[in-house]
Amino acid sequence: MDTRARTDECVVLRGRDFGDADRILVLLFREHGKLSCIAKGVRRPKSRLKASTQLFSYSRVTFSAGRGSLGVVTQGEAVDSLPALRDDLTSIACASYVGELLDAVLPEGKKQENIFILAVTTLTLLAGAEDPFLILKYFELRLLAELGYRPELERCVGCGRGVDAARFYIDPPRGGLLCRACNGGDRRTAEISAGAVMTLERLLRWDLRRIFNLRISPDARREIDNALAAYLEYHLGSPAARARANLSLYWQP
Ligand SMILES: [Zn+2]
Repeated sequence: MDTRARTDECVVLRGRDFGDADRILVLLFREHGKLSCIAKGVRRPKSRLKASTQLFSYSRVTFSAGRGSLGVVTQGEAVDSLPALRDDLTSIACASYVGELLDAVLPEGKKQENIFILAVTTLTLLAGAEDPFLILKYFELRLLAELGYRPELERCVGCGRGVDAARFYIDPPRGGLLCRACNGGDRRTAEISAGAVMTLERLLRWDLRRIFNLRISPDARREIDNALAAYLEYHLGSPAARARANLSLYWQP
């Protein structure tokens, strides 16, 4: 068993108290992927691990881990502890959603650096956000893309027709948009306007700074939310539905 100490950047996705003074954390590392680690004694007032192991912190930690066993965090410093994420219920709910979804869908110990960067970016943006909607939708869409489920948004997956009509339908099993003719009368698919499709496209392609200039109507907001919910639940199953249900207790799109 290899128990050498390693140092790596991470975000704290989840955490729970354990024993008298410890916490068990789910950490997403840049180089080591997702790993469960124990922070011993961290609930004691003078613990030096406190700042780096707070929920949603972006940190650099030293840990030792053997294959198949719980890692042990031995040192840590916060790069940015993102205190705003623990300030109010909406922020806690949104950041918890990100942590819960990533914990549910990522395998243990597999390096996925793009997803680590997505997690850091999403949490950093959420910490300064007045309206988390576009940030959460950006996160969901890019996560789907990183996991290999990028939806086709430029043309109908049935006939190849471009996005020129006013209304489309979202069909997760077929991988993206359907035009009215190809959808037939299927009521299981979610209807979506061309404007909402364009916003989804931009969330996939645009540089993040430009995304904050997007203006979206309440109708488009609802359509985007429904489309992504259908995609997430089809590809990621009940953990995605559960994370979404937990989020909806404290925040509505
Ligand atoms: Zn078609």
